[in-house]
Amino acid sequence: MTVLVLGGTAEARALATALGAVAELSLAGVTQKPLAQAHRVGGFGGVKGLTDYLGAKGFTSVIDATHPFAAQMSRNAYEATLSLGLPLLRLERPPWASEAAWQKVPDMLRAAKAVPTGARVFLSIGSQSLEPFLQRDDIWCLTRSIEPPVQVPPRGDVLLQRPPFALAQEQALMRKHSISHLVCKNAGGVATIAKIKAAEVLGIQVIMVKRPRLPAVLTVETVAEAVKWVEKLGE
Ligand code: NAP
Repeated sequence: MTVLVLGGTAEARALATALGAVAELSLAGVTQKPLAQAHRVGGFGGVKGLTDYLGAKGFTSVIDATHPFAAQMSRNAYEATLSLGLPLLRLERPPWASEAAWQKVPDMLRAAKAVPTGARVFLSIGSQSLEPFLQRDDIWCLTRSIEPPVQVPPRGDVLLQRPPFALAQEQALMRKHSISHLVCKNAGGVATIAKIKAAEVLGIQVIMVKRPRLPAVLTVETVAEAVKWVEKLGE
């Protein structure tokens, strides 16, 4: 029995470690120096490529442990496993509980539209989601990501940092740059929650991008539950 674990999250790394030799971890190759153990790297080539890969290597199940915003990969995993009749599990950390004070938006385009002229914005959205902000020369942006962005907003600073982040560190950063708005994705988890708490303490407006809608598949929230699912399949 072999399990393909679609990664890109800390949970995927922990799951692949827990499953050991029965699992292969797959990463997109976005991060230059991933923290992950042994893994394969790179896209499969859409649904067709993934279907072929699963078939050729004889995988018996797939666990989609990609980031909650990696919607394309999740859709591809759904289509490919459906066509092959393979069991698919989604490992997804719960979103942060919605706060009344947040301005909630459905996507990054709406997030950019919600930022008023003259704002000093902390963009904590990763290096690949900046497009809607690239034409905004009427705002100042502090852009933080693990990987260097290819293009950045016309006015602002870039910070290359890898989570986790502490509350005191986030507060100091937002104060230093006189941030008025925080734009982020509802990623959930503990590694990046400090920015939300810091914004709340400092009275900074939070613009929260909601998670994309994904195919309805069996979903668990913890690595332990995902391991149990694999064990059950093997019984
Ligand atoms: P995406 O839009 O869903 O995926 C784009 C393409 O990247 C997929 O169609 C696939 O290419 C390839 N890909 C994605 N995840 C892969 C994996 N685990 N193994 C092999 N190929 C993969 O995803 P994304 O938003 O660009 O994110 C890319 C990776 O970064 C994901 O693994 C995700 O978990 C991680 N990540 C994303 C975010 C975020 O905010 N989006 C944040 C943190 C980490 P093919 O179609 O050629 O197979």
